[in-house]
Parts: sequence; structure tokens; C-alpha cells
Amino acid sequence: MKKRGIKDIEVQDKTVLVRADFNVPLDGNQNITDDSRIQATLPTIKYLLGQNSRVVAMSHMGRPKGKVVEELRLNPVARRLSEILQIPVVKTVDCIGPEVKKAVAQLPAGGLLLLENVRFHPEEKKNDETFSRELAALGEIFVLDAFGSAHRAHASVAGVPRFLPAAAGMLLEKEIEYFSMLTQEPQRPYVAIVGGAKVKDKIGVLANLINKVDSILIGGAMAYTFLQVQGIPIGDSRMEEESAGLAKDILEKAAAQNITFELPMDHICGDKFAPDTPFKICREIAAGQLGLDIGPETVAKYKNIIMQAKTVIWNGPMGVFEWENFSNGTLGVATAMSEFDGVSVVGGGDSVAALKEFGLEDEISHVSTGGGASLEFLEGRTLPGIAALPDQE
Ligand code: AMP
Repeated sequence: MKKRGIKDIEVQDKTVLVRADFNVPLDGNQNITDDSRIQATLPTIKYLLGQNSRVVAMSHMGRPKGKVVEELRLNPVARRLSEILQIPVVKTVDCIGPEVKKAVAQLPAGGLLLLENVRFHPEEKKNDETFSRELAALGEIFVLDAFGSAHRAHASVAGVPRFLPAAAGMLLEKEIEYFSMLTQEPQRPYVAIVGGAKVKDKIGVLANLINKVDSILIGGAMAYTFLQVQGIPIGDSRMEEESAGLAKDILEKAAAQNITFELPMDHICGDKFAPDTPFKICREIAAGQLGLDIGPETVAKYKNIIMQAKTVIWNGPMGVFEWENFSNGTLGVATAMSEFDGVSVVGGGDSVAALKEFGLEDEISHVSTGGGASLEFLEGRTLPGIAALPDQE
């Protein structure tokens, strides 16, 4: 899948409407605690500014539910963009309307303007046509760079490109390139590592990966749902009763496809769900105990499989990595990901946060900016934002 990119169309001196993902975390004082999402879209913005375009950027932030929420205004993002780019960045008080039109008309060539949070309008999530047209009227070209929102059929993502010539930004192009490779032509052995807590969220991706990969390595709380349906005692470990049937199906499919489907063989067990709980290595989880990380034998086995792979995708931590005593499994997997000789792709907020914490982010071939979007891509679903862009000629 190759989509038209910004370098495939004439953007010089044009007003370009860019849908970015500036949904950055803020602390209680409106300070940005992690500006990765802003950094990720800078290549696109810098390229456009260098082409003397007038850049009108837009994004959502949080879940304001169609109303103005003061704490979810994009002012901190405008300030950070201005600091990084060393240019003034105008932030409008709304994303549509006569005042916004006036501000766009006054924007100089090579200038950047940021519209207010598009989710302040309920029409955004409804992919409303009139709202999409009003946004589209603010530019001559639409660029989608928000991979993190590409799975949303929202107005600023999938509505606007119905009314403007559209192209993918550089970040989106890179994400499409890696995920297309993973779904179409991965180098083998191809290994998927899936962890985290919620089986339900990842069942679709597991079902699809079974047809594509050579091995699946499971960790995190989701492992306990799989162990329990096989009759293996899991003590008080977190599991999802309602996903038991789905977990059984996955195990059956994996057996039918003859792929390697690894579950932890040992665990770091604690007495209770707390960072300072006493813990020990165990092969069997006794009643009153709970598994909080994969154990050292499992870490060694998973590392070994990763080291022999040519392609590895990882989504979801192997344990409660936020607590030091239970972060070893996640660290082991992250380290192997950074060392093996092949293409490594990491998606999902927690795995990316873990990588950053371990200082291994730069050792990975591709760290995705989209958790939900990357899972949907791997599931083989059509992402509305990407589908709305024309193919490359
Ligand atoms: P998810 O949102 O499904 O990717 O789950 C991520 C969360 O799963 C993280 O906050 C981890 O702390 C948590 N997690 C990982 N392993 C375990 C475990 N064994 N027990 C409880 N929570 C876990």
C-alpha cells in the first residue's frame, strides 16, 4: 500500500491543513510531560514551512466529549511548537468560524497556525459533513500525519480529505511503510510478542498474527487467561473470565497452524498487588499468590527466540513494569529487541513508555506513535484515515 505523500504534490506557497496527533500528556500545571508526539510530526511541519507553505495544524486532545474543556485547550502545544521551531505560532480559540478564517487569511507564507481542539465540537466524532467542509475550507491541501488517529472515522481525519486534495505526511508514510511490511512481506523468522493486561483488546490482532508469524510469545497478565483455560493454576493472578472462550479459540488456531505459541513457564509471584509486596520466583502459582512478571527461565527462552528472529513486533509489557521488582521481564524483552539482527517494531503506549524508561528507544527500527491504530493495522482492518487518502500514482 503506497499512498500519495507530501513530496508527490505541489505544496509550495499553498495553505496546507495538517491533521497531526498532538494529544500529549499534561501535568496539573499544563506542562507537557512527554512531547514525543509533537517531535514525531516535526519533519512534516518543517518540510512544509521550508516550502513556504502556510501551515494550518489541527489535532484533538483528550476526551472533551464535544464541549469546550479549558484544561484540554491546545495552548501548551502551540507554546512548545513555537519554542522548538523558533517562530511565533498563532493558536485560534476555535477550529472553525469567521475568527478562524480571518486568522488563516492573515497567516504569512512560511507561517504556522494551530487550530483549537477539534473534539470541542461533537460533529468531529460524528464525521459530520458540514463540519468537515468548514475545516476543509481553511486550506488548499490536506495532509494527514496523525497515525495515532488514523483508525478513527472522524471529520478531521477521514472527512476533510473528501473535500480537498490529500496526501500522507512523513510520519504517516513511515508508519504505513513498516506496518505494510509486517502484514505483507516480513523477513522470517517473524516473531510477535504480545503482553499487557487486556486479552479482549488484543484478541483480534492475535487471531490475525497467527496466520502470519512463526512464533507468538505471550506475557503480562494476559498470559494467565491462557494458562487458566489450559487448567494450569494461576492463584489470584489477574485474568479475564469473559475472554476465556476467545483464549481457547486462539490456542486451537495456533495448534492448527503449527506455529510456536509460548506462555510463561515461570513467574515472579507476589503476595498482593503492590509495588513493595514480598516476591519470589515460582513455577506454579499457589493460591493466595499472583503472577506479576514473567520469570527468569521464560525471559531467557523469549530472548533466545528473539535473537534468532529477522522481524519482531512487540506490543504490551511482560509484567507490572511500572514497579521495579516486576520490570525484569519487560526489560529482558526490550533489551533483546534492541540487540537482535533484524527489523524491530514496537507499538502501544506501555511498551513505548517502557522502552523510553530503559533508554532503548533509539535502538529500535521503528517505534510506532499509534497504539490502537497499530493494532488495527495488524488485525488487517482498513484504517479510515488511510483509506481516505489517494494511492500513489
Ligand atoms: P494493556 O493496557 O492491556 O496493554 O496493559 C498494560 C498494563 O498491564 C500495564 O499497566 C501493566 O502494569 C499491566 N500488567 C502487566 N502484567 C501484569 C500482571 N501480571 N498483573 C497485573 N497487571 C499487569
